[in-house]
Amino acid sequence: MTVKGAELEHVGVAVKSIAETRRLYEEALGLTLGGEEVLAEQGLKLVFFDAGGVKIELLEGLGEDPISRFIEKRGPGIHHLCFKVDDVEAAAASLKTDGYEFITEAPYEGGYGSRVIFMKPSSTFGVLIELIQEG
Ligand code: ZN
Repeated sequence: MTVKGAELEHVGVAVKSIAETRRLYEEALGLTLGGEEVLAEQGLKLVFFDAGGVKIELLEGLGEDPISRFIEKRGPGIHHLCFKVDDVEAAAASLKTDGYEFITEAPYEGGYGSRVIFMKPSSTFGVLIELIQEG
């Protein structure tokens, strides 16, 4: 089975400082800030910019978190692609049947009432892929 009609929802970018980086997206590129959120449990701060149908998500780590570890290893830059699906549980189950692997066993709360799950880059040709079901 496959996931039908997954749409690119956002591109996640790992940054050292949202305050410093948003200047580029907001002022230089003229994108509109679409939301700001702190995910305390995951140790992350994030903002979204509307970029013509697709969003840019800036992710800043607040300490011991995956984004800080990512930046330590590889420096700031593109972190993941996120695809919107109608039913994240069904999509993950279907992709698991196809042999794709996921970082967590089940989807979890991803902000704004969404449910998300990440696929393992080792099973997606090196790209970290997030699936999102909007809340
Ligand atoms: Zn994301």
